Amino acid sequence: MTVATHTASRPCRLADVPHWDGEADALIVGYGIAGACAALEAAEAGASCLIFELASGAGGSTAMSGGEFYFGGNGGTPVQRDHGFADATEDFLNYMMMAGGPGADAERVRLFAENALAHYEWLQAQGVPFKGTYHPARTVEPFTDDTLVWSGSEAAWPFSERARPAPRGHAVQQEGMGAGRVLMEKLVAAVTVRRNIEAQFDTRALALIADADNHVHGLVVRSDGSERYYRARKGVVLCAGGFVSNAEMLRRYAPDALRIGFHVSGGNDNGSGIRMGMSVGGAAIHMDQFFSTRPFIPPECLIKGIFVNERGQRFINEDAYHGRIGQYIMRQPSGNAWLLVDNSIFERPKLFPNIEVAAVGEHWAEIEHELGMPAGELVHTVETYNRHAAAGSDPIFRKHADWLQPLTEGPFAAMSFGDSAWPAAGFTLGGLATLPTGQVIDPEGAVIPGLYAAGRTACGLPRWGEGYSSGMSLSDASYFGRLAGRHLAAA
Ligand SMILES: Cc1cc2nc3c(=O)[nH]c(=O)nc-3n(C[C@H](O)[C@H](O)[C@H](O)COP(=O)(O)OP(=O)(O)OC[C@H]3O[C@@H](n4cnc5c(N)ncnc54)[C@H](O)[C@@H]3O)c2cc1C
Repeated sequence: MTVATHTASRPCRLADVPHWDGEADALIVGYGIAGACAALEAAEAGASCLIFELASGAGGSTAMSGGEFYFGGNGGTPVQRDHGFADATEDFLNYMMMAGGPGADAERVRLFAENALAHYEWLQAQGVPFKGTYHPARTVEPFTDDTLVWSGSEAAWPFSERARPAPRGHAVQQEGMGAGRVLMEKLVAAVTVRRNIEAQFDTRALALIADADNHVHGLVVRSDGSERYYRARKGVVLCAGGFVSNAEMLRRYAPDALRIGFHVSGGNDNGSGIRMGMSVGGAAIHMDQFFSTRPFIPPECLIKGIFVNERGQRFINEDAYHGRIGQYIMRQPSGNAWLLVDNSIFERPKLFPNIEVAAVGEHWAEIEHELGMPAGELVHTVETYNRHAAAGSDPIFRKHADWLQPLTEGPFAAMSFGDSAWPAAGFTLGGLATLPTGQVIDPEGAVIPGLYAAGRTACGLPRWGEGYSSGMSLSDASYFGRLAGRHLAAA
């Protein structure tokens, strides 16, 4: 058996390459959506491509995903317009800037906002189907084959004050959840049948090949137990996913993410792409940021409940995106939170029907006592909420009037949302710093010649856990994967 001598964290020096086993203009690591889109665009521009994928088939996390993209602006996509949402580019852009948080990349956001409609059409041209129907009920992703959903905090404070709300989640057509499978089937057909691009499976990219100045010239890969050396005439594109499944990297860069109990991942998000980029001087940014959720909707009636922490206090408007609420839950004392409901809205979360009902009572004081909260706190919180809700307002957390209803019909219940009762699901958002062209840059902002990154290996549009909205990862990975392929081909 051959023992691997190369690691992602150390480049193989050009002078140490014993021979070349093959070459192409573009060497692409990873065959999820970012890798597929980079290959399609590079090939379209005339570059030869070779994809290396460590699994036995294409797909990665993308194939397991909900297949939901985030699109808008430009007056609306056809499905938005058909359903009365003329989504202005400035509203889309403002929302994306808020979603990107304090480190939002204005250049990247504007580029995407202005080109999102064209990108939607490009995906359709690759064979990706969108039915064109609207699903108004709040959900995580459609359980139907509908397209358009509210997939973020668009209609919730504070987002609704700075960007006119519109639904922007666009799900690939498939009956039921998990449309990412259809998405990847269509992209793989485009890659193989239309573009005749070669992919090598069961092949792990081990290390970059770089000269003494850290200019990237190729890749060392392992397949069939042997190490092979491939030359990249124009560049290497790292599309190997994020690092949610690498506990050591989480400990170092995103320790809070160690509390994620369910990795939203195809299983190979071990950070090898990020480490390869760092090995030649690439900067890694926003590495502490991650998406995390306990998706309590559907049913949407639960939005009418209120979340409280162990002090019996509310901490967020419950109509915000479930991922934003997930972030807020994580930072509550002891990481504990409960969703309080009355009899009129009691249902169990569809995606977690075994949720622990931690307390039931005919009076809120009983719930307060059962949960061990300071006497009077929870009762005061509910009374205050009910008083304002009856008047159609929520002056403290600004939940929209559509979701305000006094919690007065007993029996009352508290459902557990703490780490131990319902472990959060999530994935990482930090990654290699890149220009919008996909070129990896060092901490000074200088381009590392011959190196590109896209998808969750890069830090892209989504870079703030509190602002993430469903669909942003696939939109980012596909659009900026394409830009990387295009720039590389022109290099
Ligand atoms: C259940 C679930 C639901 C989701 N729903 C949505 C959604 O609806 N909308 C949305 O925007 N996002 C969603 N996501 C997140 C989204 O799917 C991912 O963030 C996105 O697909 C990442 O794309 P990628 O191309 O960067 O990575 P991937 O699709 O994971 O592709 C990376 C590929 O690289 C391969 N690889 C890794 N290391 C190496 C190596 N060293 N050598 C060779 N190959 C390697 C992996 O095997 C993998 O195939 C969901 C994820 C999951 C798991």
